[in-house]
Amino acid sequence: MGEIIDGRAIARQLDEETAALVAGHTAAGRGPPGLAVILVGDDPASEVYVSHKVKACARLGVRSFEHRLPAATAQAELLALIDRLNHDPAVHGILCQVPLPQHVDARAALEAIRPEKDVDGFHPVNAGRLMTGTGGIPACTPLGVMKLLASVVPDPAGLDALVIGRSNIVGKPVAIMLLAAGCTVTIAHSRTRDLPAVARRADVIVAACGIPRFVRGDWVKPGAVVIDVGINRLTDDNGKERLVGDVAFDEVAHAKAVTPVPGGVGPMTIACLLHNTAQAARAQAEARSLGGAPIDGAGEGARAD
Ligand code: NAP
Repeated sequence: MGEIIDGRAIARQLDEETAALVAGHTAAGRGPPGLAVILVGDDPASEVYVSHKVKACARLGVRSFEHRLPAATAQAELLALIDRLNHDPAVHGILCQVPLPQHVDARAALEAIRPEKDVDGFHPVNAGRLMTGTGGIPACTPLGVMKLLASVVPDPAGLDALVIGRSNIVGKPVAIMLLAAGCTVTIAHSRTRDLPAVARRADVIVAACGIPRFVRGDWVKPGAVVIDVGINRLTDDNGKERLVGDVAFDEVAHAKAVTPVPGGVGPMTIACLLHNTAQAARAQAEARSLGGAPIDGAGEGARAD
């Protein structure tokens, strides 16, 4: 069996860095970094994610501001809340849990968050900065994927990497990060022909398609690294729910290393969110101390609206 990458342990290491950033911020008399979490409606999976994020804030000394809104909340009301949070100096990061109810324009909501407070890294300004290699706030799950990969391959330059999935929140940003790390990247999607053959060429496979056990053992070449982003809820014959990834985990013992589900990418996503928040707080404080920040730490040029 190859190495099972321990996402929980690597997340705890990142938490230590975050705690140090938080301590530095607080010691400088600025109060704790603050993360506002907006949840609209009562999607059960979103409830779980939000409660994990709020607990992680408490553990690391980040102040959390929970905003739970009914499913019927009007778009204008949500945008007004985001606007208030954009201007609240105690709030350094804002996340709006997706999916949002159908009547809400998710794109408008995510784009209303000021880029410097967009700790999920979903805003087009942050996506564009990633694309152009000019900083910005990196998307949490893709960043977590890269840190897990680095734990087994510190320098992946020159490797063939396959990303299965092309969503804006996982597939595309992780592909750009792999490219920036020097990999030769293939992005597969639902229209890709003969995916098993494409996968067999890859030194690194990042599976993010949302299909349980999609990547089979004979798709993975011996010695490849497999990062499984998938979170799929299956119910067994006894009615018990369990999580499985996008990879047939039990079939990839010949891989060099593989992430488990749960316990792989999931914990890293939250750890990266908290790290992004602490870094955003520092960046906003620095911008303010330079005197050029008219709105809660951001320069006018960075405004989203
Ligand atoms: P998504 O928006 O539904 O995107 C899925 C992608 O998979 C699409 O690009 C789709 O291609 C592709 N796909 C679908 N069927 C395929 C097939 N037969 N062959 C190849 N590609 C196929 O999903 P997402 O938001 O990126 O999430 C992906 C998975 O990661 C989900 O299981 C999600 O729960 C999980 N996730 C986990 C975390 C975490 O923290 N661990 C965070 C976010 C997401 P098309 O574009 O052609 O339709």
